[in-house]
Amino acid sequence: MSEMTSVKEILDLMDGPSAEDTELVLKAYVFAAEAHKDHKRFSGEPYLIHLVETAKGLASLGMGAKTIVAGLLHDSVEDVGVLPETIEKEFGKEIRFLVEGVTKLGHLKYRGAERHRESLRKLLVATSKDVRVLIIKLMDRLHNMRTLRHVPEAKRKRIALETLEIYAPIAHRLGIGVVRRELEDLAFEFAQPDAYEKTKKLLTERTKETVERLDKLDRGLKRALGEAGITEFRTDARVKGLFSLYRKLARKGVGIENIYDIAALRIIVPTVDDCYRVLGIVHSIWRPLPNKIKDYITVPKPNGYQSLHTTVFAGDGGLVEVQIRTERMHREAEFGIASHVLYKEGEAPDDAGQPLVERKQTSFEWVRSLIPGFGKKVDPVAISDDNSMKVRERNRYVPTKMPEWIESLGEEDADEEEFETSLKSDIFSHRVFVFTPTGDVIDLPTDSSPVDFAYAVHSDIGDHMWGAKVNGKLVPLDTKLQNADIVHIETRKSARPSAKWLDVAKTALARRHIRLSIERKS
Ligand code: MN
Repeated sequence: MSEMTSVKEILDLMDGPSAEDTELVLKAYVFAAEAHKDHKRFSGEPYLIHLVETAKGLASLGMGAKTIVAGLLHDSVEDVGVLPETIEKEFGKEIRFLVEGVTKLGHLKYRGAERHRESLRKLLVATSKDVRVLIIKLMDRLHNMRTLRHVPEAKRKRIALETLEIYAPIAHRLGIGVVRRELEDLAFEFAQPDAYEKTKKLLTERTKETVERLDKLDRGLKRALGEAGITEFRTDARVKGLFSLYRKLARKGVGIENIYDIAALRIIVPTVDDCYRVLGIVHSIWRPLPNKIKDYITVPKPNGYQSLHTTVFAGDGGLVEVQIRTERMHREAEFGIASHVLYKEGEAPDDAGQPLVERKQTSFEWVRSLIPGFGKKVDPVAISDDNSMKVRERNRYVPTKMPEWIESLGEEDADEEEFETSLKSDIFSHRVFVFTPTGDVIDLPTDSSPVDFAYAVHSDIGDHMWGAKVNGKLVPLDTKLQNADIVHIETRKSARPSAKWLDVAKTALARRHIRLSIERKS
């Protein structure tokens, strides 16, 4: 593998990287190549390929140089022992922060269905101080899923289930449809092989017929739009993902002949006005199915998705779903939050001729709370010449508090059409989420100490605590735990609680046990 080829592949996917960006990416590539030089994948390939693929994924989502560099370095701390300090020295604080964030996420292990929802929620709350960390983790997982067949069989199923139950929903909530779909379909095969085969067969049988119908529709549509004087548009067909189809069949308990969106015709136009005009034209050629006309432009889905949907009789008795949207809506549907990470408010190139009001109304409200500095006054961003959505990353990092919408992550994720957000008050603002060394999440009140942690894990551990390590370092017992700390409690048989612990214990649980233990002793 030629070095320059890999770097060039990354740079080619970036949107007009500056000389500085190019230099940074090249430097990170050389650094990663050296750090991982003796490191191989299960496939036997050099580990570097995984890092390059992760970086390419990030570049194709339009992420900036820093995020891409963090993608190249994301396994260097955990796997080959590079010190976070070294990363900071070579690449700066922000990249160190991103790499450490991804490293922490890697400590979380999937513990099975009964706990996954809770873990999922806490995982996010505890670690997504910056949404870029999650996006890197998603692209890391995507490449791991693309190469899952090389992983020992015993591990495959766990990884596939974890992907379906944790990572695909995260991609969904972040609105990154393109990643969600691929993650789901890659995982489906290993998580539920029988269902996968059955669904695949069903879909294959139906696809030919549906694609022929779409072709016909597409030709008729182009003619009608032309006659109506709409010349600026493009169409594309999308076939439903296998897992998404499987889920829908299971949920509705109906046969595949009752699923109308196996394939959909997409019409992409410049403005919102065009969307409604096109909807009218579509309905004038093909009769719509009543109750299937959905205006997600006026009322976007909770994850920000916007489009007009309608299901029409295609003339031959078959039904086809038609989705109408602007270029911006299309990009947001595919790239979600990734398409927003790089802007500051109001500077996003909008749909041609779009009034400001529409833009305001449809900007992902919740994105703001996830993106450091979003909506605040920040350094100017460079918008590329072609006025595309990709702009260069800002250089500032301002920690933000957890957004409210994360709370709804733990709830039943029924279906994209049906779930509703529950924007309750932010109960997480006064909790910290810390990890056991094996990745279990323990939530505690803010300012909790290792003593609280020990008792939260088990009263025996609290009662015999000898010392505590936070992130690998011995700490005093009055240390205030921070989000995403990894806490290890050392115990000795002879150790007993002391009255001093009452001063540092914040939780009622810990205090009660300490008192009990002291009373027993005296
Ligand atoms: Mn990795």
